[in-house]
Amino acid sequence: MRVANIDGRLALGRADGYLDVAGASGGRFGPDPQAAFADWDAFARWAQEYLAAAPDDPATSLDPGAGAVRGAPVPRPAQVFAIGLNYRDHVAEAGLQIPEEPAVFTKFPTSLTGHGQSVTLPEGLVDWEAELVLVIGRHCHRATRANAWSHVAGLTVGQDLSERRLQLTGPAPQFSLGKSYPGFAPTGPELVTLDEFADPDDLELGCMLEGGEVLQKSRTSNMIFDVPELIVRLSAVCPLLPGDLVFTGTPAGVGGARTPQKFLAPGDILITWVEGVGTLRNPMRGS
Ligand code: ZN
Repeated sequence: MRVANIDGRLALGRADGYLDVAGASGGRFGPDPQAAFADWDAFARWAQEYLAAAPDDPATSLDPGAGAVRGAPVPRPAQVFAIGLNYRDHVAEAGLQIPEEPAVFTKFPTSLTGHGQSVTLPEGLVDWEAELVLVIGRHCHRATRANAWSHVAGLTVGQDLSERRLQLTGPAPQFSLGKSYPGFAPTGPELVTLDEFADPDDLELGCMLEGGEVLQKSRTSNMIFDVPELIVRLSAVCPLLPGDLVFTGTPAGVGGARTPQKFLAPGDILITWVEGVGTLRNPMRGS
């Protein structure tokens, strides 16, 4: 099942496009994409049944035409967790040691944006980080490895855009702030539920500039702390809430670790993908 935010309305993917959830459900579920997480299990059950029973109902069609705004699938998460240094090759290019605990920071929710949305580059050195993003579907406190995945509603594609000067300004680094300018957390284009994946622990991910070379390409099976381990360690401290996001870290190939260094510039179009989840496209523009 694929869930999207089309012009600010909760939408469900089907073969010929999208259906409008508020219309199709007769108002049982409101139009706000965030409303799906008030009771994710009930929403997912209703959606599966509706798609099976009335897959082509034209009355509920949403037109995601060229003018439609593709918002973040989860526009207002209560919490956004992000993990640094979670791929061995990225730790090596950063010249650091393999961490014994996940390096956790947040991307403040005002940094969220969606597929196709342009990002205004602030002053500084703005870098790319292609990431798999988890969307939490069930309240989760002190998860075990065995039940960790059962708390996940689905997966989406994310970019952990990072202004490196502010991020690395001392004496203690400013990860959360340097990664939270408006538009620095593109997610989407859809939330894809776990039943769509043969193995959600092993998905190719990467990014490139449109018309240019591939910048990052790896597999999520190369994570140091895999998805169950991240959920165990985060939920050992913080209860994870339905609609929360977890950016799970980026593989090697970031611009700041290149020789010479390379950063995003106005006019660049950043393409980010995760196998089976989708492809995000975000143009960069000057401030
Ligand atoms: Zn990151």
